[in-house]
Amino acid sequence: MLPPVLIVEDDTKLARIVKAYLEGADFRTVHASTVCEALQKAETELPLAVVLDLGLPDGSGEELCQSLKELGDFPVIMLTAKSSEDERIAGFALGADDYMVKPASPRELVCRLKAVLKRYAAGSSSVDSISSFNSGALILNSVRHQISRDGHPLSVTPTEFKLLQILATSPGRTFTRDELVSRALGYQFEGYDRSIDAHIKNLRHKIENDPRSPQYLKTVYGVGYLFAGERDAL
Ligand code: CA
Repeated sequence: MLPPVLIVEDDTKLARIVKAYLEGADFRTVHASTVCEALQKAETELPLAVVLDLGLPDGSGEELCQSLKELGDFPVIMLTAKSSEDERIAGFALGADDYMVKPASPRELVCRLKAVLKRYAAGSSSVDSISSFNSGALILNSVRHQISRDGHPLSVTPTEFKLLQILATSPGRTFTRDELVSRALGYQFEGYDRSIDAHIKNLRHKIENDPRSPQYLKTVYGVGYLFAGERDAL
């Protein structure tokens, strides 16, 4: 099963409409009506994407957007009554991947969500260009799509790169196979979750000293995988 789209909206009527349209387009959804609830659900559900209303009863949607972005690498579409150019630009600066002004067309929202997910699947996520782990033993260059191990560039496929990039963006966090499929291969590949295992196996042969006893790509039995490298501080 694919991860759901998290709808953060305190207006229950509006939330119901957004939910109906997203589910009509074959997305699963979960709903949160407060900042607090949104953070809880984002942590437990690991959403595919977030549709975020900025005016929430217990805090600012802007701050929530930043917290969500720290929690994981999923796209956020802001949905808001604020419409000035300055406010839109501020939204993008906080990491929003798209921005819609209310009253928004639910059909347009579905289109924009699909477009944002496609961009994500194509690897244009917002991670740093260079990420270094375990005292420089493993380096990801997300501009060149290159992985280096002990200073030597490795030959990896685009899917392998994307997979490692997704996992390494949140070290220690367990990703389900479904989630990895939807992010690394594109969300249309429902039902192919075991194909991730083959890519992980290949990656282990490239980046691990001992692929049978991996130090970076750990299996979380019955769930998926996590990246256990330690990010180097600059
Ligand atoms: Ca609101």
